[in-house]
Amino acid sequence: MRGAAPDQELAAAAARLAEEVAEVLRWERSLGGVGVTAAELRAEGERGRPADVPPVDRRPVDEPTVEARDGAPRPAEVASAAGEPTSLEVPLAARIARLETLAAEAAKCTACPLHEGRTRSVFQRGDPAAELAFVGEGPGFHEDRLGLPFVGPSGELLDRMIAAMGYARDAVYVCNVVKCRPPNNRTPTVPERDACGPFLEAQLDVVRPRVIVALGRCAAEHLGCAEPEQRGWRGRWGQWRGTPVMPTYHPSYLLRTPQAKRAVWTDLQAVLARLGREPPGTPAAVARQ
Ligand code: SF4
Repeated sequence: MRGAAPDQELAAAAARLAEEVAEVLRWERSLGGVGVTAAELRAEGERGRPADVPPVDRRPVDEPTVEARDGAPRPAEVASAAGEPTSLEVPLAARIARLETLAAEAAKCTACPLHEGRTRSVFQRGDPAAELAFVGEGPGFHEDRLGLPFVGPSGELLDRMIAAMGYARDAVYVCNVVKCRPPNNRTPTVPERDACGPFLEAQLDVVRPRVIVALGRCAAEHLGCAEPEQRGWRGRWGQWRGTPVMPTYHPSYLLRTPQAKRAVWTDLQAVLARLGREPPGTPAAVARQ
């Protein structure tokens, strides 16, 4: 017969699982993913929590705020030094809470002139613990209206690229260098990118992807994979703070230049190889199904 302690551990584990499910559903709904009401989510959380088990601590990840980052230890260093879990082990609920805090800060941000023309800031979509992140340039017309990155025609093309790689649309993390739409979709200036950079750093610190794909020259430059005016930047691995970065063309360029899709697919296949994956349909991928 099982003793009281294992039963309590089981109940606590069930409570944590229910809490995480509720968090994920709420997160997906906030990103336009699933049609679940807030009341349903609260009920979901309550149903899964036994009355005698305390609620899961949902404090945000212990890391410096965007304003306090200069010279401050990185989140993983802070956590490791304290003997706490590294950011790779940070619970999903803590990641979600931290990303939501950052998104709320971006929504109020006036650090660069781009805030003057925004309808909404555009922060993120996808899995907060994804192994693969795509970083684009900045929001366009559709993104500015909806508050989500890559939802217009170039977003539809990105979704097809993600599917071709064998990922579900929201199994990857997607964001931009700047969070507010530049006027007439112009390229963000270097001062605008630099002003917004701490948000990108902070969100990638939370997600900690294994590989980043930089979509377009702007993102490639910002992540240190291309120099201004440099030719031949596409398809050459770079690094951003220890994470491999593959710079490739932006989907909006591919809409204008479809013949470049082959080169991008070559880059995405290199990304899959780096992650130890094959695109669906290849013999090895089929053999695993
Ligand atoms: S683009 Fe970034 S730095 Fe500029 S106002 Fe928007 S959130 Fe702030």
